[in-house]
Amino acid sequence: MLNSTSQDLASLADFVRAHPRLQVLTGAGVSTGSGIPDYRDGEGAWKRRPPVSHQDFMAEPAVRRRYWARSLLGWPQIAAARPNPAHRALAALDAAGRVSQLVTQNVDGLHQRAGSPRVLELHGSIHAVTCMDCGAAHARAGVQADLAAANPRFATLRGAPAPDGDADLEADSYADFTIPACKVCGGLLKPDVVFFGDGVPRPRLDLAWEALAQSDALLVVGSSLMVYSGYRFCLKAAELGQPIVAVNLGRTRADALFTLKVESACGPALEQLEQLLADLGNSTG
Ligand SMILES: [Zn+2]
Repeated sequence: MLNSTSQDLASLADFVRAHPRLQVLTGAGVSTGSGIPDYRDGEGAWKRRPPVSHQDFMAEPAVRRRYWARSLLGWPQIAAARPNPAHRALAALDAAGRVSQLVTQNVDGLHQRAGSPRVLELHGSIHAVTCMDCGAAHARAGVQADLAAANPRFATLRGAPAPDGDADLEADSYADFTIPACKVCGGLLKPDVVFFGDGVPRPRLDLAWEALAQSDALLVVGSSLMVYSGYRFCLKAAELGQPIVAVNLGRTRADALFTLKVESACGPALEQLEQLLADLGNSTG
């Protein structure tokens, strides 16, 4: 006998077949299977101290020292993470021509590693660093080497992985932490990610809206949608009269807008969806 999740997955497979151009919006729940922790619990509340804000990062040298010290330990863990079945199933969905645009709130680059083409990284990438003064782009790997060279004491510390390339490190003091400057102009380096309190760049958002307008429906995967930049995709889809379906373990801010919701961890659910679609494809020849 089918349990409710299996029934919902069968309905989702039918839905995907009926809506061949899906915009897919993914969040942290897609990457938890790769060992990258989520910020929020099943009720959408903070599990941990909220992340650094753009304003504090730009204004406070002490905030930047703490950020980079934790990132020095956290980034190698995110760089070593591997795609999980959720990423692979979405790449397969894309390869089957069912995805009009994959939009992710994640900054870990795991969709690209799984083979998804044309990924729109709404909140940027943790693998890139931008100079806030001259705009020069720097590879995070190079900045990592500079951080480690300038801070041998911190480089030997260990911290449990935290979301977005952060690590749980509480040093007694970050006062002696040295942040490398931009090699072009000596300016202030910032990871190429949208921090809290910072807006998604307009051109990036325009691309997402353009793609959504050419889609049949929105599929949300692994996001509580508590951040407005994700939630507004649901508002926009609803405005366009597009149905919205979701795969997420736990409550989301847009539950009331969903035509269908599969309450499950992303990896197992998407693997089953892929199998159901393959079976349906075979049965209809
Ligand atoms: Zn610069």
